Amino acid sequence: MGSEFETEIRYSVIIPMYNEEEVIGETYRRIKKVMSETGEHYELIFVNDGSKDRSAAIIKDYSLWDNTVKLLDFSRNFGHQIAITAGMDYACGDAVVIIDADLQDPPELIHTMIARWKEGYEVVYAQRIKRKGETWFKKWSAGAFYRLLRAASDTPIPVDTGDFRLMDRKVVNELKKLPENNRFVRGLVSWVGFRQIAVEFERDERLAGETKYPLKRMLKLSLDGITSFSTKPLKIAGYAGILLSAVGFVYLLYVIYCALFTASTTKGWASIISLMLIFDGFILIMLGVLGEYVGRIYEEIKGRPLYIVRETFGLEKARSKERK
Ligand code: UDP
Ligand code: MG
Repeated sequence: MGSEFETEIRYSVIIPMYNEEEVIGETYRRIKKVMSETGEHYELIFVNDGSKDRSAAIIKDYSLWDNTVKLLDFSRNFGHQIAITAGMDYACGDAVVIIDADLQDPPELIHTMIARWKEGYEVVYAQRIKRKGETWFKKWSAGAFYRLLRAASDTPIPVDTGDFRLMDRKVVNELKKLPENNRFVRGLVSWVGFRQIAVEFERDERLAGETKYPLKRMLKLSLDGITSFSTKPLKIAGYAGILLSAVGFVYLLYVIYCALFTASTTKGWASIISLMLIFDGFILIMLGVLGEYVGRIYEEIKGRPLYIVRETFGLEKARSKERK
């Protein structure tokens, strides 16, 4: 497998995996089938995001007899968004596909994506019109998040769209220049622009295993999404401050009126306590919002690498990095 072979790679498929040993074999077979149907050269880049099970060992096995299989093995769990970023750093294809390892994203849709790409679209993203086998809470919270993000963000980010997508080499090269640590990849893809189009699909159930996105991680992803693409939460304090002082001013007039023209001026204890609670609560919330942004600034300024690789199989980092 010399570099001549590498330069011919047309499609790179990036598959992030975190403890997916139950499904990864089937995932490999289904993606493999779809990609060989294209009749063009391709590579399957499995990114092992610090799995504690046999996921990496299984892929390593496959890579011994299938040279389209490549493995990028992280030194620990860095998170889904970082795993797909790393995949893009190493990918050599003219088009790069990102797909989940649990077969919730149907690999067969890649054919449709490729067709749109050949029509000239540079990003083809998969939009869910239905989600099967997920809890009502997941569906509801995901729906609410995408709509909140749309309202808050200055970059229009399509709703109900995960990371399952195909991107042209031009797009990937631009994404590789974005250094941020707290990454919300689908937002970054919207941000870089280019000709983008949706293809619709129904999201399947997980083939096996359970979600690797518990509430805490979903919250982190949502906060990354909102804070990376909007500073509106910071402005809420300003607007709310103006509104509250206006209300306070009116109330002050009323208090002065009572003091001057009525005899009952000491009855206000209840209103003071309730106003205090409201304002103090609000101040704490805004401190929290500030903290989110400051914390992220701190993380970015440290300039740590996004991920650490333990070992790779079948990948040549130097080559891919040089591609611009
Ligand atoms: N994943 C990962 N690192 C993590 C969490 C998840 O690489 O820390 C991978 C996971 O193996 C899967 C994809 O990201 O391929 C999406 O995760 P999952 O299916 O658990 O999320 P959900 O579909 O429930 O939102
Ligand atoms: Mg999933």
